[in-house]
Amino acid sequence: MNDRLPILDIWVDPVSREEALHRVRGFLAHGDRPHAIFAANPEKNFSVPTDATLYQCYREADLLLPDGIGVVLAARLLHGVRLQRLPGSEFIFDICRLAEAEGHAIFVYGAREEVNGRSVALLLERYPGLRIAGRANGYVSPEEMPWLIERINNSQAAILFLALGSPRQEKWFAAHKGALSTVRVVQGIGGTLDTIGGNVQRAPEFWCRHNLEWLYRLVKEPKRIKRQKVLPLFALLVLKQWLSMRIARVMGGSRGAGCDRS
Ligand code: UDP
Repeated sequence: MNDRLPILDIWVDPVSREEALHRVRGFLAHGDRPHAIFAANPEKNFSVPTDATLYQCYREADLLLPDGIGVVLAARLLHGVRLQRLPGSEFIFDICRLAEAEGHAIFVYGAREEVNGRSVALLLERYPGLRIAGRANGYVSPEEMPWLIERINNSQAAILFLALGSPRQEKWFAAHKGALSTVRVVQGIGGTLDTIGGNVQRAPEFWCRHNLEWLYRLVKEPKRIKRQKVLPLFALLVLKQWLSMRIARVMGGSRGAGCDRS
């Protein structure tokens, strides 16, 4: 995590898809605790600092994915680092492929019952060798939580997909990570099951390739405007930080030149 990049008030790991998978393999092979994978995107820049638990989760996460084009552009501008987008909603499939190839069992927790059930069925159709050790919808009451934890542990799952939305999934992880006995990798996948087994469509290839997935989702679900209105503000703040860094560099340079002359 030494190379983790600060992006305004959050962080991102400068990993390619292969590097991210390599880290997941490491978590599975050597881990003695659940490792958290969350998504870094502009929205999180505004939600994470306002909630102590969420902040702690991001601060201590084992892998923060470059989830969207906003973070990719910010990393380029602020750090000169070229990242590829690695959305959490795609990385779940990479993890499934790895789990299928290497025999790791998965538990899928979150979303509405029919969406959860349909998503699991579709994952099994897509990866026939996948071991889904268990599943539960995301509407388990606090009283039933010990029973759910027991089910997850009894399932011997090594990977847990948490699909409760943010910050619900991070808070769940903070509260229950100590009770998970076999899980080594937890990926917070937000509303991804709705795109797998529900009615929410991910953007077609063309929109993703041109980094316009956010626009596609906005056109399809105009109510997302509430969430996406942070995007221009994020862009402005990144530009502001970039400008202050440039000014500081120029000032530092000219001060240095003055010293040389004296
Ligand atoms: N959800 C859940 N339990 C709850 C509330 C929500 O499992 O108590 C699920 C909901 O069904 C949906 C997801 O969490 O599948 C919310 O997705 P959203 O798009 O809001 O999350 P994000 O991707 O923004 O983190």
